Amino acid sequence: MTMKYVSTRGAAEPLGLSEAVQTGLAPDGGLYAPGRFPEFEVEDFDGRETLPQIAETFLAPFFEGDALASQLPDICREAFNFPVPLVELDETTALLELFHGPTAAFKDVGARLLAACVSRLPGRRTVLVATSGDTGGAVAAAFAGRANVDVRILYPKGMVSPRQEKQLTCWGAGVRAFAVRGDFDDCQRMVKAAFADRELSRRHRLLSANSINLGRLLPQAAYHAAASLWYLRRRGVRAGFVVPTGNLGNAVGAFWARASGLPIREVVLASNANRAVPDYFDSGAWGPRATVRTLANAMDVGNPSNIERLLHLHPDLEQLKTFARAFTVSDEEIERTIVEEAARGRVFDPHTAAAVRVRSLVATPHWVVVATAHPAKFESIVEPLVGREVRTPPALAALLDKESVCVEIEPSLESLIRAAFS
Ligand SMILES: *Cc1c(COP(=O)(O)O)cnc(C)c1O
Repeated sequence: MTMKYVSTRGAAEPLGLSEAVQTGLAPDGGLYAPGRFPEFEVEDFDGRETLPQIAETFLAPFFEGDALASQLPDICREAFNFPVPLVELDETTALLELFHGPTAAFKDVGARLLAACVSRLPGRRTVLVATSGDTGGAVAAAFAGRANVDVRILYPKGMVSPRQEKQLTCWGAGVRAFAVRGDFDDCQRMVKAAFADRELSRRHRLLSANSINLGRLLPQAAYHAAASLWYLRRRGVRAGFVVPTGNLGNAVGAFWARASGLPIREVVLASNANRAVPDYFDSGAWGPRATVRTLANAMDVGNPSNIERLLHLHPDLEQLKTFARAFTVSDEEIERTIVEEAARGRVFDPHTAAAVRVRSLVATPHWVVVATAHPAKFESIVEPLVGREVRTPPALAALLDKESVCVEIEPSLESLIRAAFS
């Protein structure tokens, strides 16, 4: 049966996978979500060990009926081509390390599957993305070197870290970075204006690769599926998952895997001081909040767009609370966790530290803590706290050695068109 993706707002035509991936936001303003979920049994994965193997089985129903379905095995092998180990922390806690990709953060996984799909679609496209830091690097790394896809990245000049800037500007050839004389909101406004320009959008076949893209969400469900099976096979029980949470994309992946029958006991969301999600769990009333800056800056989201997907899947909060919880973690707790864990020989980045902290607050056993970034990616925060240098992983070090090229532009659509599309 063909899988159709429906808008969370219910007023847009359901689409097949390829169309949904190319469309980004639905015409009614909603986000695409699976129209139904497969009903897997654990035995369906017998003999499937590695992430690419498990992902292939898990994603098959989500690709069913689509032009890309026959290429799913290749897509999985290509996208999941770096290690995603489930490392034992203690007898009842494991760490799912999602940071061994080229930019040392979990967004590499989603971006790589999206790129593997898009590059197999006929025709030439341009990915246009605004970034406040991490997303752009992962997208650039995933699409770099693809013959039929160009990439244009906008970032706010002077407002990303030197390492992040390097990861945006080092790719050459088809990946071009633009430092906008403005803030992240200016960058987003320019991208929106470019997509709204029908002529520009049609001529360059613009494609959005932001975090709401379905092609980034599905692989995030796949690694939660794999980790849940690995944990069950090792320990004989279902694990709960603690997920560092910002825009809720990673966590929605966990909920989708659970809804598909995978052995995920519960999902616990670890927010930083941006507490829109924990407040919803407490009060039952959803409301966006002003964004506050924290040490875990990739989770600084006051109005997470993927809340629509969570509410679409689980509209009844009381029912959701039977298998989900949400906690807020302060900067002080993040710092204290990094210091205390370092004393035990384990170095965490601020985002993962928030989840590690939440793990310590839940008394029950058997948890997978999702690790979203390598500590070397946030060395300016981590090193002073742990009092020593954090070794840079080789993939990240290789990027830092490359030459940077970027062009500065004014925050307007005209200057973007002149610099990037003429
Ligand atoms: C993006 C990001 C997050 C937040 O993930 P969401 O899917 O937006 O909830 C957490 N940690 C790191 C390191 C990130 O880059």
